[in-house]
Amino acid sequence: MLRTIVFLGIMIWNISLFSQVNYQKYFTPQALRIDFYHTGNKEQETIIWDELFKEPQWAGNPHNLLDTLNLGNYLLKVYDLQTNALIFSYGFSSLFQEWQATTEALNGGSKVIGATLRIPFPISKIQLEILRRDAKNLFSRQIGQWNIDPQSVDIRQEVRARYDSLIVIQKSGDPAEMVDLVFLGEGYTSQETAEFAEDVWRLSERLFSVEPFNNYRSKFNVTAVFSASQDSGVDDPNQGIFKNTPLNFSYNTFGSQRYMMSYDSKNINDLASAVPFDALAIVVNSEVYGGGGIFNLYTALAADDKVSSNILVHEMGHSFAGLGDEYYTKDVAYQDFYPLHVEPWEPNLTILQDSANLKWKPLVEPGTALPTPWDQEKYDQRNEEYVQKSAEMRMAKKSNHELNQLKDNYTETTNSFFEDHPYGGKIGAFEGAGYAFKGIYRPALECLMFSNRTLIFDQVCQRAIIQRIIFLTQ
Ligand SMILES: [Zn+2]
Repeated sequence: MLRTIVFLGIMIWNISLFSQVNYQKYFTPQALRIDFYHTGNKEQETIIWDELFKEPQWAGNPHNLLDTLNLGNYLLKVYDLQTNALIFSYGFSSLFQEWQATTEALNGGSKVIGATLRIPFPISKIQLEILRRDAKNLFSRQIGQWNIDPQSVDIRQEVRARYDSLIVIQKSGDPAEMVDLVFLGEGYTSQETAEFAEDVWRLSERLFSVEPFNNYRSKFNVTAVFSASQDSGVDDPNQGIFKNTPLNFSYNTFGSQRYMMSYDSKNINDLASAVPFDALAIVVNSEVYGGGGIFNLYTALAADDKVSSNILVHEMGHSFAGLGDEYYTKDVAYQDFYPLHVEPWEPNLTILQDSANLKWKPLVEPGTALPTPWDQEKYDQRNEEYVQKSAEMRMAKKSNHELNQLKDNYTETTNSFFEDHPYGGKIGAFEGAGYAFKGIYRPALECLMFSNRTLIFDQVCQRAIIQRIIFLTQ
């Protein structure tokens, strides 16, 4: 109860002023890296703590120590042990909560998945607490607690990053005042160093060509860390391909071919510790479409697929701004990912229980119907026909040329469907989002979180990205 009062007091009072004083009082400029494991089954989850490391610099914003964005499935809270004051909080998501919606979990399996968080290094003893959202999406379930003495000899201090080169793509200022984006190379051999450099330059340019990243480019530091891989490429189990790579990324995560993630949190975070960072993107040496992004974990993408830059920007929507997927096609690994009676925390998804208080209401033009009619049946039918037809063509071993032609035709019809639509480019509440045909609504017809046909975030998604940039920099 005391904690609630303290927290509310901070909310009402000026957060930045309070935290500014706060930082010097409670923290040193260094970072504390906390390694831990999510463990459990489809219903239960427990945090098992692992190792602690001291790192030279914390990259976050010392003016905003308490996370006010309400993003992520989990919330880390840090208390000063002596006074019980809440001195730091941080929202995040994990691969584990996604795994809980897979068939493996629904069939009774259990799992352990590693993760890492970084906080400013405390001066005095602290208590960590990890909370998870409950059925109403409130952070009421404590799944882990740990007391830490910053003087403990067990806090490791060695330099963990082993890398071959650092590429500074853009240096705009001190990490405390900037968004620090770090690219890590995966699956590039030492002979492919130049290729990695080309890939990260190209991808970074593309990211900063998209709004709002374009407008806020001067708020970013961008660095790439290269560690040579033994083998070239990455695991693709469905093709029988297994490679020895530094970060152990693989296609077919949770049985979804294009989902390319890694369970190797230790190695990812060892390499990432080469530079202070707020956001991680892993660039994987592959031409096969794939990637993934989890809020405050990382973005991963195949660098050489022809839509790789679109994947980077889409996945950054997840990992940087906590945006949800707006698409609802059938080929995803999750079942009933969002309960239809609870408002999702994602800034771009709603169940539209109360259209008068829609969370993106200020961006809706007066007179726009909520829900917004958009001929979903027509769109779905065309999509269904396309999926069926391309499956038939694959079975009949038709040429890539013919398959591409079908795809191009479909893209063209879909583009004109959206372009000619009376609500094209407008904000409303369009049914079909978050892997569900019905019951979940997205803000616009088209957005990078809906499809990778265009490189445009709708205004609601843009607003969420800007809020995160401001949180990290002002
Ligand atoms: Zn996505």
